[in-house]
Amino acid sequence: MLETIDEVVEFMKDPPIFMMVGKGSNIVINPEGNVRTIMQISPYLSKEIIENTFLTVGSGMSITRCLSLCQKYGLSGLEFAAGVPASIGGMVAMNFGCWGIEVGNIVSRVRVVKKGGAIQWLTSKECQFGYRTSIFQSQNWVVTDVQFCLSKSTPEDIQASIKASIKQRLNKQPLRDKTFGSIFKNPPGQHVGKLLEDLGYKGKQFQNVQLSRKHANFLLNTGKATFQDVKSVIVTIQEEVITQTGIHLKPEVHLVT
Ligand SMILES: Cc1cc2nc3c(=O)[nH]c(=O)nc-3n(C[C@H](O)[C@H](O)[C@H](O)COP(=O)(O)OP(=O)(O)OC[C@H]3O[C@@H](n4cnc5c(N)ncnc54)[C@H](O)[C@@H]3O)c2cc1C
Repeated sequence: MLETIDEVVEFMKDPPIFMMVGKGSNIVINPEGNVRTIMQISPYLSKEIIENTFLTVGSGMSITRCLSLCQKYGLSGLEFAAGVPASIGGMVAMNFGCWGIEVGNIVSRVRVVKKGGAIQWLTSKECQFGYRTSIFQSQNWVVTDVQFCLSKSTPEDIQASIKASIKQRLNKQPLRDKTFGSIFKNPPGQHVGKLLEDLGYKGKQFQNVQLSRKHANFLLNTGKATFQDVKSVIVTIQEEVITQTGIHLKPEVHLVT
């Protein structure tokens, strides 16, 4: 774990083949795979900074902790992500989104450390946010801090909004189960959860994993699922769906081989 900005710079001066991990809520790693060095940013790397409606936090902070700060300082905009076990860095790298809102919409700038050790602030535009993607998917840079542009609200309204988000999520997603979030991205113009449900996948049990009864695009670990169990179910569903509909489903979850 990288604890300070100096440690990040030192690490990036001549890094081995590595992968950054936030809270790991969108990743399944093959323990026998090629990625040997996995790095994480400490939740305490940076102290939060509040300037008017701008909130800057370290990338290792959890969204839950970040929302506590938002509530304390009366800053609204991130409540839609309440309840998800994610870090700020992971949310930015994935351009986390739901219900028509994406994190990229409220990111003002992002501090990164590039290979060689250079520190740079990127504007939101330079982050190249797209549907569940950003420049951090193609560049192995370390996100260390994120500045959000939020709006003024009251702690009471933010708390109510957080509660409403969690309630909505609990109704629609298996938030309390062993899961990694969406298996597949939505194909253009389609909702993948509905597509899988219509094809009879909701609740379907495979070896050690099951498609959620709440949401067909969530995979649950119902036993001691291995990387191979997860991969083989994803490939099976992809093959079956393309045969039945002609649609190629692209994984949203990162299978790290
Ligand atoms: C119950 C549940 C519900 C979910 N609901 C949603 C949802 O509504 N919408 C949605 O979009 N996702 C959802 N997800 C998926 C997941 O939470 C998001 O993709 C989230 O953004 C991942 O955050 P993380 O910290 O766990 O990142 P990880 O899974 O650890 O990493 C994700 C990506 O970010 C990169 N990364 C992480 N930290 C850094 C860093 N500091 N610097 C550079 N790159 C970094 C990783 O290399 C990886 O490519 C859900 C997951 C769960 C378990």
